[in-house]
Amino acid sequence: MNLGISATEFVSQAKVGTISVEEFVAKTLDRIKLVEEKVHAFITVDNQNALAKAKEIDKKIKSKDKVGICFGMPVSIKDNLCTAGMKTTCASKMLENFIAPYDATVVSRLKSEDAIIIGKVNLDEFAMGSTTEFSYFGPSRNPWNVDYVPGGSSGGSGVSVSALECLASLGSDTGGSVRSPASFCSVVGLKPTYGLVSRYGLVSYANSIEQVGPMARTVEDVAFLLNIISGYDSHDDTTIKNDSVDYTKDISLGISGKKIGIITQMIGQGVDQEVVSATNRAISKLQELGAECIPISLDAVEHSVAAYYTIASAEASSNLSRYDNLRYGFDFGTEGYEFKAFISKARSNFGPEVTRRMLLGAFVLSAGYYGKYYLKAQKVRAMIKAQLDEAFKKVDFLISPTMPILPFKVGEKIDDPLKLYLTDINTITANLSGIPAISIPFEISSSGLPIGIQLFANSFEEKKLLQAAYALHKTTHLPEVPL
Ligand code: GLN
Repeated sequence: MNLGISATEFVSQAKVGTISVEEFVAKTLDRIKLVEEKVHAFITVDNQNALAKAKEIDKKIKSKDKVGICFGMPVSIKDNLCTAGMKTTCASKMLENFIAPYDATVVSRLKSEDAIIIGKVNLDEFAMGSTTEFSYFGPSRNPWNVDYVPGGSSGGSGVSVSALECLASLGSDTGGSVRSPASFCSVVGLKPTYGLVSRYGLVSYANSIEQVGPMARTVEDVAFLLNIISGYDSHDDTTIKNDSVDYTKDISLGISGKKIGIITQMIGQGVDQEVVSATNRAISKLQELGAECIPISLDAVEHSVAAYYTIASAEASSNLSRYDNLRYGFDFGTEGYEFKAFISKARSNFGPEVTRRMLLGAFVLSAGYYGKYYLKAQKVRAMIKAQLDEAFKKVDFLISPTMPILPFKVGEKIDDPLKLYLTDINTITANLSGIPAISIPFEISSSGLPIGIQLFANSFEEKKLLQAAYALHKTTHLPEVPL
């Protein structure tokens, strides 16, 4: 049985009984057992429930009962999305034993379509990071070379899909956290338009810019998942109605006649030469497919890293103030402490990156510095949006490399926050402006490491974006993961 098939292929076979769901899930669990000690994608694996659910679905298929459209496909979920009855740790000591009382909307939608939640996957603590090294449970590793980082913060999602430990995954993307691991692990990852997917049950980091995003091995699979998780949710007032959209329909329509803007700031200075060459080859492919490509300058991008880390940290400092160890978590042995000492002892259990962000966030919001930093960052955000609005008057899509550099070694940048922050330069524009962006696996470098290409579209144009991504992905011939 081939665990490397696409989710769509799995569904079409499970439906007619040529794949036994139980056998597929059992094989997937064996695979997890085999590769986990090398890649460490999972925080929790739900062996028993997964197998029980698989048996139940096989039975329903045999007796021709109604089955949800996922037909038992094994899916992994980033561990900052709430799952009733299964731990949601956010890869933090603070929530080490936390079990949410309810499912995130995206999780309940997958369950109601008979997806099997095979486990919860690793991330940087509270989704703050770009490598998955800031997990309290230890780093995940890149399946293409385990000495290298898998990207982050949804590293466990990227690794589990790439290493054939599931068919698809949900991550979250605040500044690139779906697209970075998609790029570094050679899978597809979409950051939807802000408001397309419910955030109910997503543990907030920077709630004005983040979205839950699907990751899978094909563009069609990502479209399939988006059909399930997108749309209005009465628990999240920022969501919109999109009932009539089917993202899988006409996905192979192609991109002939479309205009694509090459963001000059994203393939210029500081970008790895192999990444630049790969991007140029992607542009040529798109031209061969009938698209017209022109350079587009977005100079506000140069300020995006500073603006992003100001805004995201400000929101983080507010969102994470709820972890006082009274309502959530863990007994840190603080009995008998007076109130202030209690809170401060409890909150000293955050890891270094989360602590840094909370301090930075409190600083940029404080009296006297608010105007100088936070407000200025919001102005940059507005500038980015305005420049994108102008760009989308001229072009249908924008293109860039997803990451400016190749995956790097575990530990290589961990002590230099600024270097890590700069790796987000190409992804955060989509978050600050709310537009959708997708990372497509495109090439493998001479050193055997994945290179992803990023396409952006205007807000709520996911359908068009997925068609373009599909066309580009079809031009690739990528090797199987060497694990
Ligand atoms: N690397 C970025 C950060 O650390 C993005 C994280 C994310 O998208 N969750 O904030």
